[in-house]
Amino acid sequence: MNPLSRRGLLGATAAGTVAAAAAKAQAQSFGNPDLPPQGAINATNPQSIVDPGPQNPALASQFPSATSPPATDVGGMQMPWSSFNNAPRRIQNGGWARQVTQADFAISEEISGVDMRLTAGGIREMHWHLAAEWGYMSYGNCRVTVLDEQGRAYVSDVKEGDIWYFPSGLPHSLQGLGPSGCEFILCFDDGKASEFNTLLLTDWVAHTPPEILALNFGVPADAFSKIPLHNLWIFQGQLPGSLEAARAAATGAAGAPPYPFTFSLGSMKPVRQTKGGEVRIADSNNFNVSKTIAAAQVIVHPGGMRELHWHPNADEWQYWIKGKGRMGVFNTGPGAVTMDFNPGDIGYVKRSHGHYILNTGDTDLMFLEVFRSSYFADVSLSDWLTHTPPEMVAQTLNVDPAVIAKFPNNKPEIMPE
Ligand code: MN
Ligand code: MN
Repeated sequence: MNPLSRRGLLGATAAGTVAAAAAKAQAQSFGNPDLPPQGAINATNPQSIVDPGPQNPALASQFPSATSPPATDVGGMQMPWSSFNNAPRRIQNGGWARQVTQADFAISEEISGVDMRLTAGGIREMHWHLAAEWGYMSYGNCRVTVLDEQGRAYVSDVKEGDIWYFPSGLPHSLQGLGPSGCEFILCFDDGKASEFNTLLLTDWVAHTPPEILALNFGVPADAFSKIPLHNLWIFQGQLPGSLEAARAAATGAAGAPPYPFTFSLGSMKPVRQTKGGEVRIADSNNFNVSKTIAAAQVIVHPGGMRELHWHPNADEWQYWIKGKGRMGVFNTGPGAVTMDFNPGDIGYVKRSHGHYILNTGDTDLMFLEVFRSSYFADVSLSDWLTHTPPEMVAQTLNVDPAVIAKFPNNKPEIMPE
């Protein structure tokens, strides 16, 4: 238990020589403002805490904050946790994908997520779709191709930590490269969008009369006698040649697009770095094409915390990459829920709901914050409280102005500063 948490302070109080009644009174006024008091700290009958019914200890052990919520949790909040770890995988020769859409995760209205693996040479079939697509490479190497509406071809290779953005409707393909293919996350800017419902090249060609294909492409109809009659979606292909050769072959008279459709998020200089961690941000300010998705890659060192904050412009969809952590979310009501996350998990916070993320492990925690917006924006609680007249804050919270003067006043993003 973090010794600085209120629960920790309460626990220490209860474990000391202070009378139980006094501890209870303090719990009600300090650690648990709502009646009746909640949390294990307030359960004087130990039988209140045990779980005698059916259990799955392996699963329960992953969720200490759900099993024993802080006494400050209250109300009924929507589930902020989901995961790719137990999402069914659609496996084909060449790779697989699994997804978590709003159909599976009710709160995720603005973003749906896909986790995809392509072997070396494995191809995600040429396709397009209604939603815009944002990708993050979590492993290996991949070649992406996309054509814009002015006929300008883009071909690029991406590595771990790189991202791409394909605007709504633009056709694209993905292929795993050597030595061992790739894995990546896709975010669609629509919680209902599905990876298994995209417009596939093979489907269209197979469902167009051969004489129409002949007229369209200016070749004899029998040129299409061997086309696949069923779509491929993911299939094993041959490793492609050099990037230079691929670019030269794809680029026509229209030339290359003015802005790249890929960006190196993981290897850019942090926009904020403190003792507690690092933040990297890619939105339309530095990744020009990304008009509907903004994202931050956050690293929180052991003992550090992504500070209490909220986002005024969009819901936050999270992908947890490394390490482990705990998120607390606050809403009007009041409502407060605390949940634990591990690699491969997905978090979701509604627009303007307050939240923090604590590194609960002994290694660096890394996660993504993804927003359906052209720009990243957040409001820091400590920034607000230090840039409001101190008398206002002091009277509201009944905290001495001298204490408020010690709060961070330069929006640390990750604590400690
Ligand atoms: Mn796509
Ligand atoms: Mn956030």
